[in-house]
Amino acid sequence: PVHRQADIQEARLRLPILAEEQVIMEAINENPVVVLAGETGSGKTTQVPQFLYEAGYASDGKLIGVTEPRRVAAISMSKRVAEEMNLDSNEVSYLIRFEGNATEKTRIKFMTDGVLLKEIQSDFLLSKYSVIILDEAHERSVYTDILIGLLSRIVPLRNKRGNPLKLIIMSATLRLEDFTDNPRLFKTSPPVLKVESRQFPVTIHFNKRTAVDYVAEAFSKTCKIHTQLPEGGILVFLTGQQEVNCLVRKLRRAFPFHSKKKGTKAAQTLANGDAESEDEGEVELDMQKAIHNARKARRKRQGSEVVLPEINLDSYSVVPGDDTEADLLGNDDDLGDIESDEEDQLNLRGLAACQPMWVLPLYSLLPSDKQAQVFEPPPEGSRLCVVATNVAETSLTIPNVKYVVDSGRMKTRMYDKVTGVSAFTVTWCSKAAANQRAGRAGRMGPGHCYRLYSSAVFNDQFEQFSVPEIQRKPVDDLLLQMKAMDIDKVVNFPFPSAPDLIQLRSAERRLVLLGALEEPKKKDDWTSKVTPLGYAISAFPVAPRFGKMLALSHQQGLLPYTVCMVAALSVQEVLLEVPIHGVEEEAENAGQKRAQWIQTRRKWAGMGNSLLLGDPMVLLRAVGASEFAGRRGQLLQFCMDNGLRHKAITEIRKLRVQLTNEVNLNLPDLNLCVDPNMAPPTDIQAKLLRQIMLAGMPDQVAHKVADNEIKEDEDKAKWKHAYRCAEMEDPVFMHSASVLRKKSPEWVVYQEVFETSKLYMRGVTAIEPEWLPTYAPALCNLS
Ligand code: ADP
Ligand code: MG
Repeated sequence: PVHRQADIQEARLRLPILAEEQVIMEAINENPVVVLAGETGSGKTTQVPQFLYEAGYASDGKLIGVTEPRRVAAISMSKRVAEEMNLDSNEVSYLIRFEGNATEKTRIKFMTDGVLLKEIQSDFLLSKYSVIILDEAHERSVYTDILIGLLSRIVPLRNKRGNPLKLIIMSATLRLEDFTDNPRLFKTSPPVLKVESRQFPVTIHFNKRTAVDYVAEAFSKTCKIHTQLPEGGILVFLTGQQEVNCLVRKLRRAFPFHSKKKGTKAAQTLANGDAESEDEGEVELDMQKAIHNARKARRKRQGSEVVLPEINLDSYSVVPGDDTEADLLGNDDDLGDIESDEEDQLNLRGLAACQPMWVLPLYSLLPSDKQAQVFEPPPEGSRLCVVATNVAETSLTIPNVKYVVDSGRMKTRMYDKVTGVSAFTVTWCSKAAANQRAGRAGRMGPGHCYRLYSSAVFNDQFEQFSVPEIQRKPVDDLLLQMKAMDIDKVVNFPFPSAPDLIQLRSAERRLVLLGALEEPKKKDDWTSKVTPLGYAISAFPVAPRFGKMLALSHQQGLLPYTVCMVAALSVQEVLLEVPIHGVEEEAENAGQKRAQWIQTRRKWAGMGNSLLLGDPMVLLRAVGASEFAGRRGQLLQFCMDNGLRHKAITEIRKLRVQLTNEVNLNLPDLNLCVDPNMAPPTDIQAKLLRQIMLAGMPDQVAHKVADNEIKEDEDKAKWKHAYRCAEMEDPVFMHSASVLRKKSPEWVVYQEVFETSKLYMRGVTAIEPEWLPTYAPALCNLS
């Protein structure tokens, strides 16, 4: 029996889903798979686990499992449910990639979808669980999609063994056909239950004209709502962290809450990319010719190179990462001056006198304690205003919102299907998403949604639904993980929506180049096997190329460094490029501060092989120095002073511990530990690490465009810092944030290419051309 607090019980009774408890439980009891759809805020996430608990699904030591695509949701929902049920976090717990509070006693477990996938790899039948809820299935995250496919097979198997497992797919929007009308997935369509919700009408107001500067428009709209309309919270949807912080700053300035801050000048030249011209001309450089020369050079100096250690082929358990990259959004290369002069349009002097506004930012990379603030009631007498990215669209319900201001945009990371080059692009969101956003205004009473775009744009340019993540992202990791799970013919897997063949092929090709998969035998053969190296790679919860680097490093004392480097490279945005740390930070000394950071990074890079190791070396040293500062309790300050993202640093630390444990599990003789006093690598070690980088990125080699390759009539300056990569037509450039830019080495490997005004390499390491045949043999065989 559950003993709930009176006020909690009262709040629950107001949720319409409570009236449906019997219907829902009957459907679950009678069907192996049930789809449950209902508007955000109707009580699916918080109530259904409680129904199951009270119906006995957590008795006899069995577990109720709930997956969330976002870590934030896994944590906050487990807390909320524990609170509602008056149970300890031992019993209603969460588990995400690096942390959790699950115990032996856990009865309801919230976890990220990646965590459950990892559990399937060690216990295919999920025998600990009596029921799995896949929450937020409408978000169509890669891992949730795969879980649906896998569970469609696991559920009948468990039934056959007389130990049934229930599957509940929960979704906010009503595009359910991918799950229900999909005979490959479920032979008989699962029943669909629709939860009524107490959704009040929301009046939609379209702008007559579509605002181009939507941040400015959001500002003035929010000001108007606050000064002219009755009480009720405001929720603003923008696309990314920097926009959010910027608008929060402006609103706080316009409606000061605390004692008045000193006036600040608008952020000035924060642009952190290159100011060089965009045009590119044609250059004919033959990558193959360059490789050929490298080969010749190698023949000359044969024998003198250090050979990498053999790989240990112990069988590893399979552990995928769980990052959904969907909203790692802070990657603005071209920040622009968002804070322009439109404040003039409004008479701000008069505004400061009105009701105070309690302005809070909300985005994924925000520290969790700050995220939790949005659930608290605002201070007495003030109006709540949350400025959010699309995190607030479905997974988190912000209380008491009456007004929604919708930019209609979202930021997505777009990948080139073949090359894997990525770029953050702001696009229109889907009609479904826009309607979700509007719906946020109708939870406590009739509401209003102000769309900063015209109805014509909405009708003509918005897609009905957004494309599932699995069809947008490179699937290398997915393909290898699935093959390592003996899902041989990935093309035949019952995906809710299958990734397209080009995408699968290019992932396969990259994995072959990496040595993780065998070469396919025939052209339309999809059954290529995982190599022993591939199995070793798939054991690590990081991208395959990083897995390879780890698998190769267990000799020569390199592992502590590789572990640290891989941990740092797997976390997004460790080194900040612009001094925007939070909304409190003033932007005045931005330029000066940035110059200081760059200075420090140069110092960290060092000399000789250490410098040639390049950007990964800087990360190594940044992590080491943070460790040192952390032990003196000065981590936060240290991060702020040196342009490190604090949350990234703590995450790296956790990942380092996790990877170290993983290594020890497989190679117990090593007794690897996370050394808080790790000395920087020696010159020889740094050189070996450069080779390791190449071994992990054998397909991401670039060669500098030499002077004599530039045509006579070309402007040489345009080609400064330009490189050629295999299989990419356009040149890529060394970014100003790279420590190797000054040195400008002839051959490099890069972690990724991203596109802003032009193509830039990120995470650059210098290599020697004569290493190519050994460490990137497949690249050389292309010719
Ligand atoms: P759904 O999953 O259908 O979107 P939820 O179960 O998340 O709905 O939310 C149901 C209700 O519980 C909402 O009205 C929301 O306001 C309330 N709620 C959710 N989390 C919290 C919390 N941390 N504090 C207070 N109320 C909450
Ligand atoms: Mg929910």
